[in-house]
Order: sequence, then C-alpha cells, then structure tokens
Amino acid sequence: MVIKNVNLEIVCGITSVLPTNIHPEVAFAGKSNVGKSSLINGLMNRKAYARTSSQPGKTQTINYYMINEDVYFVDLPGYGYATAAVSVKEKWGKMIEKYLQTSEMLKGVFLLLDIRHDPSTNDKNMYEWILHNGFKPIIIATKMDKLNRSQVAKHVKAIRTGLNAGSDTIIIPYSAVTKQGRDEIWATIESLIS
Ligand code: GDP
Repeated sequence: MVIKNVNLEIVCGITSVLPTNIHPEVAFAGKSNVGKSSLINGLMNRKAYARTSSQPGKTQTINYYMINEDVYFVDLPGYGYATAAVSVKEKWGKMIEKYLQTSEMLKGVFLLLDIRHDPSTNDKNMYEWILHNGFKPIIIATKMDKLNRSQVAKHVKAIRTGLNAGSDTIIIPYSAVTKQGRDEIWATIESLIS
C-alpha cells in the first residue's frame, strides 16, 4: 500500500468509551518493548509517529491510527510490566477484552513476539484470548535482524511450539531495522480488509 497520510485520530484511556468506526481495523498486541511502535512506524513509513519505548508507568492508551482513510491500525497497550499494579493490569486486561469483543470493524489481530525468546505465559494467554474472541492471531516475530539467517526458522518453530499453534497459524518474521517482512505484513493486512 502506498502511504499517503497517517493520522493518530482517536486515543482511548482506561475509562473511555470505545469508538464505533466505519472503517476496517487491524489491531496490534504484544508485550511492552517487543517492538510494536517500531513495527507500526515501519508499516506507516514514519520514523517516530507511534510512540516508542513506552516506559512503565507512562499513560497507557489504545491508539487508533487512520491510514489513507482506508484502515485503522489499533495499537493496544503493551502488557507484561512486572512493576504495574495488579489492579492496573486487570483494568487494562478488561479494556483489551472489551475491545476484542465489541469492535465490529476489527478484521484481524497481530500478536508480536520477540523472535529470540520462547513465548511467555502472558504471550500464551494473549494468543488464547485472541482465539477465544473469534480471531485467528497472526504472529509477527520481531527483531529478526538480531539472529543469523540460519537461526530464523528454528526460532519460528520454537514460537509455534510454545504457543501450541498449528501449521495454519501465520508467523511472519520482521525487522524494524531492515524492514524485512514489511511487504508480507502489508499483503496480509490488505487481504484482511479487502
Ligand atoms: P514497544 O514498547 O513494543 O512499542 O517497543 P519499541 O518499538 O519501542 O521497541 C523497543 C526497543 O526495541 C527499542 O529500543 C527499539 O529500537 C528496539 N527494536 C524494535 N524493533 C526492533 C527490530 O526489529 N530490531 C532491532 N534490532 N531492535 C528493535
């Protein structure tokens, strides 16, 4: 897709009413620091439009980026901060659940995992949660430039095994540094929204 314009159009806090959109949405979920902002910036051809390196304690929001008046990228709050209070984690969990359950225009959910690491309990829960809400999670294995080319397939396999995902689950390795995987992710988004 040729990116003509991008606009952070809607920002939802924990008590916000989620918007009812007329455009299709694709959502991005993952552990904090997994590279979600870098991926979204890379897909949008922007250097630092989506916030990067969100800090623990920094305000968490659900951000809706409108791309070319065609599709919303919905940036879900990163999970997994050990330091966040349990009550805060629960509230955000409920907010993400509400989003997955009620967004009528949601066409697909991307779950980001660091290609170097086996899925954590939180990652596995998120994967199951997405499935439970009727979506087939598409996995993006981030930071692939940190591995040798020969290691990539082995790590993709470890992620598949760790998630207990079948061979029909799509896993796309991506690097925000080299942009490898970008075209495949965009092709997937276009097929989801067409
Ligand atoms: P977020 O918290 O999930 O939004 O993660 P960020 O996009 O802020 O990335 C966290 C850190 O990982 C930053 O220091 C990024 O520069 C780095 N990072 C993100 N993606 C990649 C990647 O594909 N390759 C490498 N080498 N570093 C990355």
